[in-house]
Amino acid sequence: MGVKVNPNLMKELKEFGLDDANKCFHCGNCTAVCPLSTPENPFPRKLVRYAQMGLEDKILESAEPWLCYYCGDCSDRCPRGADPGETMMAMRRFLTSKYDWTGFARKFYTSETFEIVAVAIVGILVGLALWIFHADSPNMEHAYLNSVWPAGSIEIADLFMAGILTFLLLSNTWRCVKFVMGDMLKKIPLEIYIKQAKELVVHFITQKQFGECTDKMQWFVHLLIMTGYSTIFLMVAVFLAGGLEVVGLYWEPIAFQRDVIYPIWHPMRLLGYYATAAILYGSTYALIGRLRKSKAPYKKSHGTDWMFLVLLQLTALTGIFIHFTRLLDWPMPTYVLYVVHMMFAIPMLVLEVPFSKWAHLAYRPVVLFLTKVKEEYKRQQEAA
Ligand code: SF4
Ligand code: SF4
Repeated sequence: MGVKVNPNLMKELKEFGLDDANKCFHCGNCTAVCPLSTPENPFPRKLVRYAQMGLEDKILESAEPWLCYYCGDCSDRCPRGADPGETMMAMRRFLTSKYDWTGFARKFYTSETFEIVAVAIVGILVGLALWIFHADSPNMEHAYLNSVWPAGSIEIADLFMAGILTFLLLSNTWRCVKFVMGDMLKKIPLEIYIKQAKELVVHFITQKQFGECTDKMQWFVHLLIMTGYSTIFLMVAVFLAGGLEVVGLYWEPIAFQRDVIYPIWHPMRLLGYYATAAILYGSTYALIGRLRKSKAPYKKSHGTDWMFLVLLQLTALTGIFIHFTRLLDWPMPTYVLYVVHMMFAIPMLVLEVPFSKWAHLAYRPVVLFLTKVKEEYKRQQEAA
């Protein structure tokens, strides 16, 4: 069967941040120095080649863009300044847009105007909804959020949002699985998938592959942002909805939006502190790095990189302010800050989880798991 070539692929990839790939003369240095490249899955040179040759289908079925954590070693050692690390990053954005069946991710990645307008629209809609649906007589003596927005209503809206996000993320992840596995998906016995399932969990929680790169700080920052973000997502999407009052499963001790402030040792409060500190430290480190262009992964920043970090910072900062106004029992500043906080936090969840950066956190462990499944299958075939 002939190989399909997309003559406009390089041009298309440029819209996703590809820059210097055409400078590559295929010395192979990048693949030799990449700490994560293996004989079974060599990269990044192979992927640079696919881009130059317009082999779009090959890129679509490649696991390698997700095996790269963008440590930048390859870009630092490239004698031609072809920035192979950034090529891998551009491919992850490109693939994210291909996995997304709504077409939204593509617009989000290829138009900064669209990205800013989308975030602004979602933020304004959230602000308007909170303004329209606030209670008629909020408590103005004490900072009681439930007197303005009853937890039950917030939980229903929250469950609705979590349901849509989960559907979008899972359906896009399923498309990722189909691209990466192709015909192998049904050919490989289910036992192998089950046997390798632990890889999915381990890679998601620890990002341990990144720890094999030379720059351990990048792994640490990545881990902080990932765990902080996931904790917030769980607290908002699960524990806020975790009351599950509507179906009679409400358990007050783990409800997120309560008017009584948790004692300092309470797991919910400790989790909140961890998530805030992790996000604040991780995103500040990455923002300063990008402003200073201090290392290869920070030299070229896409609009979505800035948006992700800025939304993280604003969500964390407004969250901290609310915490203090609640501790000080200042009603009006708490209510106003809550609206502002939600105007940053909800666009971050709604737009980043299924369509942008956060989706990478789902695709990467899934593809790593599929790679292990394929390797195990091959091993069994060779042994048979
Ligand atoms: S990207 Fe750079 S290091 Fe890699 S093969 Fe091309 S020229 Fe060599
Ligand atoms: S950025 Fe790091 S992990 Fe990615 S291809 Fe280059 S050397 Fe490998």
